Amino acid sequence: QVADTLAKEGCSSPSYDWFQTDSSVTIVIYTKQKDINLDSVIVDHQDDSFRAEILIKDYSYIIHVELSHEIEEDFSVRVVENVGKIEIVLKKKENASWKRLGHPLENHNSLIPRKDTGTEIVKPYTPVSDSLLSEFKEPVLLNNKYIYFLIKIYPAGLFTPELDQLQIGDFVSVSNPEGSFKISQFQELEDLFLLAAGTGFTPMVKILNYALTNIPSLRKVKLMFFNKTEDDIIWRSQLEKLAFKDKRFDVEFVLSAPTSEWNGKWGHISPALLSEFLKRSSDKSKVLICICGPTPFTEQGIRLLRDRNFSKEEIHSFTA
Ligand code: FAD
Ligand code: NAD
Repeated sequence: QVADTLAKEGCSSPSYDWFQTDSSVTIVIYTKQKDINLDSVIVDHQDDSFRAEILIKDYSYIIHVELSHEIEEDFSVRVVENVGKIEIVLKKKENASWKRLGHPLENHNSLIPRKDTGTEIVKPYTPVSDSLLSEFKEPVLLNNKYIYFLIKIYPAGLFTPELDQLQIGDFVSVSNPEGSFKISQFQELEDLFLLAAGTGFTPMVKILNYALTNIPSLRKVKLMFFNKTEDDIIWRSQLEKLAFKDKRFDVEFVLSAPTSEWNGKWGHISPALLSEFLKRSSDKSKVLICICGPTPFTEQGIRLLRDRNFSKEEIHSFTA
């Protein structure tokens, strides 16, 4: 019945196969879907049990076996997107030849509606302050009981529509914080340039608050904020107020899909936009550039900054 429903939605049922070399076993999954990427693949391996879940529209295709032989902990996953093929390469612990992949476990080789799989979804988010500097308080807010997030809801997304449905009193699990930004990157800093796109603005909130409050050497802080439309600009009026209040801070908005009324800057990140933006307070000023946004934005930004001879130490990118 599930296969019938899927067929109506233009999907045919996935299948899998496996092959081996002396040192590895490769499980090949043919999803027959073109829009599969690495985010659609969840692999879980504990002791002998191996489970892979492939997210296809509202369904999950499951590979779930008790492996016939032991494997190493690390494995690799490759997706050939244009044909929807997934290869999971497992490393054998011993060089023996396997006669079978293993015993099938629950739901093995089946396609089931996603709501029945009980899968845990994990997505990263960046804590922000409750506002920009004007009301900035150190994060000792009420015994650290509060943590603020700015999260965009994607109606077709996997996780954010679920988050949007939460009611007061519901629970979500939150992990320990992770990240590589160090406060020492601010030491003796004179010019701070922030390049943010969409929700890539979130890491800039605490950076802005911290730098403007705690770095005496700071002369200039500039934010270039890229969005599709004016409505997408997060905290626009707070940013404008801050620029008015603190002469060290400037903000520029750049729209990629403006209406005809927009008379500000528009386009994607480009050499022309950057050359105008990255004016430092003096030739040898100590500078830090932070960049965050959709992956192609961040990658393009880093390339353009490197072309302008900024060193790796002068660029901090926020990535997954
Ligand atoms: P997804 O299911 O990931 O989908 C997102 C959008 O992409 C949807 O519109 C969907 O239809 C589309 N889509 C999905 N797959 C494809 C595909 N293969 N091809 C084309 N389109 C596709 N977000 C915030 O809002 N605030 C934050 O503070 C924040 N911090 C982050 C920090 C880090 C380190 C990282 C890496 C990301 C951060 N994000 C943040 C993004 C966040 O983790 C999620 O990616 C985001 O919330 C989308 O999740 P989702 O499951 O709802 O959507
Ligand atoms: P969006 O789709 O609204 O795009 C915002 C702007 O990004 C666009 O106006 C455009 O200027 C630029 N952009 C988008 N695609 C581009 C491309 N292909 N090339 C060049 N520029 C491009 O953005 P959104 O929906 O708010 O998404 C924000 C992204 O930021 C998400 O991918 C999220 O995962 C990422 N993010 C990362 C972190 C982190 O710490 N790594 C934190 C927050 C958000």
